[in-house]
Amino acid sequence: MKLAQRSNIAPSLTLAMNTRAKQMKAKGIDVISFAAGEPDFPTPDHVKEAGKRAIDGNKTYYTPVSGILELKELVSKKLKNENGLEYTPEEITINSGAKHSVFNVLAVLVESGDDVILPSPYWVSYSEMVRILGGGITFIPTTEESGFKIKPADLKKVINKRAKVILLNSPNNPTGAVYSKEELFAIAEYLEDRDIIIVADEIYEKILYGGNVHVSIATYSDIIKDKTVVVNGVSKAFSMTGWRIGYAAGPLKIIEAVNKFQGHTSGNPSSISQWASVAALEQDSSFIGNWVSEFKKRKDYIVRRLNGHDSITCTDPQGAFYVFPNVSRLFGSTLHGYTINDSVDLANFLLEHGKIAVVPGKAFGADNYIRISFATSMENIVEGMKRLDKCLTP
Ligand code: PMP
Repeated sequence: MKLAQRSNIAPSLTLAMNTRAKQMKAKGIDVISFAAGEPDFPTPDHVKEAGKRAIDGNKTYYTPVSGILELKELVSKKLKNENGLEYTPEEITINSGAKHSVFNVLAVLVESGDDVILPSPYWVSYSEMVRILGGGITFIPTTEESGFKIKPADLKKVINKRAKVILLNSPNNPTGAVYSKEELFAIAEYLEDRDIIIVADEIYEKILYGGNVHVSIATYSDIIKDKTVVVNGVSKAFSMTGWRIGYAAGPLKIIEAVNKFQGHTSGNPSSISQWASVAALEQDSSFIGNWVSEFKKRKDYIVRRLNGHDSITCTDPQGAFYVFPNVSRLFGSTLHGYTINDSVDLANFLLEHGKIAVVPGKAFGADNYIRISFATSMENIVEGMKRLDKCLTP
């Protein structure tokens, strides 16, 4: 049996670590997982109720492929009120999660011969999606010193005729980097007269620390808006990861193509989840502020504890719910019988010996790091940091 070339992709290391941790837990092993990419709060009750009402009210049939008008209208309102962006419902498509939105958008844009510009470290699925579609990738490496952010000068160095799309993700998974308005607008100014589509993944927009403010690059000018697709969803902001609702807003030509593509591949996203998302976007969402305060407490604690190790340096994330410490000083050492030469060795050692699950930075194109999610209880974090201390003490 010969599989198609496009099946030759790396499995998602984030999901794999999570699964391994869950399997160990199921066997009764007391593992603390820092691998999750989802808030640990339950979906709000009013959202759950709306989902139940949708089932009881028989809203269980196919919906329009691009999503129900009620939801698209609320997304349109949200983009206007919260992001300062005007899109008609026709310029919005509802998809089965923001991951699906990114894939659908790339699917109608990228083909063999095209390049996608990807600041690195990057979210694990971007690179594999581009590979599935036969596109090439131009990575722009960033470092702790630059706050894991790119500048127009970095773009200038790599841009060529093949460059078709740039993927921007702020707040960023895995680094927690958040671009300021000035930084984003400098990039926008540079891209204004270039023939490149910007895909702006804004899924973590509500999870910000300190004085950070989320800005949509599409607000820079009409010219930039006309070549930007904004991707967002309810997964992270409303703790609705399992409901699978994301959306994209952008130029009609792209959105219409996405809808045709979606019509033949997945069809409409779950009708029940769409109605639950209507409740999420329609009603008061002030609870998110409490979630962010809770995340901040955990972040501050974990950053302090990690920096307490001579072998680790950890920058303070400005958004999202991950820390991305540099662990490269540990490479070349042997700890409790385990030889650590890269981030995968370290993650395996921490899981097997320390019973803590983290994601190796390699998954994000940055082998000097590991990703630790603080979307888990403070109690777990305190215990997890104790276990890390033990692992790193010879
Ligand atoms: N973009 C980024 C940067 C993410 O981290 C994630 C989730 N891990 C997604 C998109 C996908 O979100 P969803 O669950 O809505 O598909």
